[in-house]
Amino acid sequence: MARTDLGYLNEIHTCPHCDQKMSCCEAPQVHVGDGLGWGSEILYICLNDYCSLFLNGWRNIEEKYGHHASYRYMELPDSTEGNFMMVGNADAFKGSVINPDDLKRQNQRYQQEKQAVKDLQNCVEEKNLAPVLHLILDEGADISNRKQAISLLLQVNDLSCIDPLRNHTFRDTSLEMECNKIIGLLLKKNYMKECPFCSHLIKMQASKCMHCKEDV
Ligand SMILES: [Zn+2]
Ligand SMILES: [Zn+2]
Repeated sequence: MARTDLGYLNEIHTCPHCDQKMSCCEAPQVHVGDGLGWGSEILYICLNDYCSLFLNGWRNIEEKYGHHASYRYMELPDSTEGNFMMVGNADAFKGSVINPDDLKRQNQRYQQEKQAVKDLQNCVEEKNLAPVLHLILDEGADISNRKQAISLLLQVNDLSCIDPLRNHTFRDTSLEMECNKIIGLLLKKNYMKECPFCSHLIKMQASKCMHCKEDV
């Protein structure tokens, strides 16, 4: 979700029919071209089952149209104009309630990913491992961004990447395999190896680990 302006998440909408706080809901998906979109990704909907609009709606619709349905009161972000959403049961829209804090967190993650991708451009000249590592370790980041970051590991040539990469649980094992391959090349390039007993980095030609004193 690529949002930059999340101001609407701080809006408080109150239902004029029941005075209850309305829920922030994901707008239902509509097919492009059918002209039914609300022009907003979220809607504020009164989901109070004791709301008078909702309670009276069953009878009104039954009398007018002869079928079993009611209304929920709805407002768009940044608007207090009232809309009615037709619902067939009390649970409609309850599954699409959004926790604004989750959305803010998602957005923050996305903004950080975007910044890291930007910082990749100069990471080799600046010997800046931070954006490279950020992208590789961000399981929510775009796979192509993560692969691009992995491809720069060797050029950035910073051995401090090894610990965090080894300690990370990759959901995509192909990324993990790629990282392991690069770590091998990185160690070789710096004439280092990992102690098989304590995992500390030691010189390639060392026969005894200076950290755990084991013979290697
Ligand atoms: Zn209401
Ligand atoms: Zn050791």
